Amino acid sequence: MLNLSVLLEDGARRVPDRECLVFGDQRLSYSLVNTIANQVAAFLVSRGIQRGDKVALASPNTPYFPFVYFGALKAGAVVVPLNVLLAGPEIAYHLRDSGAKALFAFTGSPDLPLGERAFEAFNEVDECEVFVDLPPAAGVTESSIDGAETFWSAIAGQPDQFETALTEADDTAVLIYTSGTTGRPKGAELTHSNLMMNAAVSHTMYEESDGGQDRFLAVLPLFHIFGQTTMMNTPLFRQATIVMQARFDGDEALDLMGRERVTVFAGVPTMYWGLLGAKGEHDVATISNTLTTAVSGGSPLPAELSRKVTERFGIEVKEGYGLSETSPVASFNDPNSEGGAKPQSIGLPIWGVEMKLVDSDFKDVEGEGPGEIAIRGHNVMKGYYNRPDATAEVLQNGWFRTGDIARRDEDGYYFIVDRAKDMILRGGYNVYPREVEETLMSHPEVSLAAVVGVSHETHGEEVKAFIIREEGASLTEEALIDWAKGQLAGYKYPRIVEFRDELPMTATGKILKRELR
Ligand code: AMP
Repeated sequence: MLNLSVLLEDGARRVPDRECLVFGDQRLSYSLVNTIANQVAAFLVSRGIQRGDKVALASPNTPYFPFVYFGALKAGAVVVPLNVLLAGPEIAYHLRDSGAKALFAFTGSPDLPLGERAFEAFNEVDECEVFVDLPPAAGVTESSIDGAETFWSAIAGQPDQFETALTEADDTAVLIYTSGTTGRPKGAELTHSNLMMNAAVSHTMYEESDGGQDRFLAVLPLFHIFGQTTMMNTPLFRQATIVMQARFDGDEALDLMGRERVTVFAGVPTMYWGLLGAKGEHDVATISNTLTTAVSGGSPLPAELSRKVTERFGIEVKEGYGLSETSPVASFNDPNSEGGAKPQSIGLPIWGVEMKLVDSDFKDVEGEGPGEIAIRGHNVMKGYYNRPDATAEVLQNGWFRTGDIARRDEDGYYFIVDRAKDMILRGGYNVYPREVEETLMSHPEVSLAAVVGVSHETHGEEVKAFIIREEGASLTEEALIDWAKGQLAGYKYPRIVEFRDELPMTATGKILKRELR
């Protein structure tokens, strides 16, 4: 028997008065957060939600996220977190695909009319029976949406205590929607055990700060597994404080880090660029003094960025690697490991996890590689919900194939070369965009580079670079191509360069290469 909500319950028992969540001027204790989660669980049961039923949750990082997440888990339900940027028809797709019986949606911010979109989608899906509005202010009982009830009216009068459902360790706890390597979004089934183990083992990534009283800045979206595990479940495991930021903004993040004396920051590389690019006045000395751990993941950490962050904040960024399907952390470049951290590496598999390289037939690749990373261990999902074929494609004998191409050195450290599907085939040669991007980003007038293959009559594919220039740069396309020619082999340097002011990105900072192509 195991229920992930023990993370919260244990905090409420041991450190009831400790700050669990800080959000704006709200400071909520472990005991209060647990009580509200109990009320959510009781409400769900009163509406007929049973063990294994799906409860969808569409919320930015606000206290509602953990209230509903742990409330649903306590009731034995499966949480289906939704990306807050989804359009109406996409929300309906996720509700149908998961068979969600209830939907909680944030109606809070005017620039994010998520609640209205969600309510429309809800009305289209008959099987989804319960809609709850998460309003901007605490305590609001009247919904801005006609015919909806608010969170606060839903939990009013529900008991403070709730006996957690007796779920099994390998019951699905969360369905994380991901496109995986191909196709429409699929729900990766992560179990109570997957998530518990990943929270517990990820905990070893963090340095110990004063008396273990860590303060995490939760600005990575909690609906994505990276934020969920490292910025919610792991801090709860450590009985730490979670300082929430609803939406990333470099200046605001630095203000919060200084004011709230944040000890742990985890972000995607774009967020680190955002911290470096912040324009306001910040107490960098205090921020550097209190910060003990900075983690990056989700996409490759450019060497240049890592160097700049260390220069500015006096801290070394530690790189982790993982996927939605692996809860997510699979490997970590840990300075405290026997071999230490190696530059540009995603490190070694975490405790209890194995990694190897395979070829396109799932056969082992020996030695250095390159090959596709396959992962086995306590973090690997059960499968894609209701998709036996898609599951069979990626899971064989407990090994999960990731679609990421890597090399391995003689000490077993892994180095990501690229996504298999992003590889460019130019005139019979493999070009890995990441290598070209790293090179382009080392040019002083280039701030961000994304490289894709575009079709070409004779070469099959040609290398094209989308570039965001540094402010005030006068670099031309020709000059950059000419410079790149001197840095890279003839088949690798970009023949086409296009300057852009911004690049299309996912909520977790992955450049949408499909759109660029
Ligand atoms: P997601 O399922 O959205 O978490 O995306 C997982 C993908 O993110 C992986 O398959 C990798 O391609 C990429 N990724 C995650 N961490 C890293 C990293 N440290 N370096 C390079 N790519 C990464």
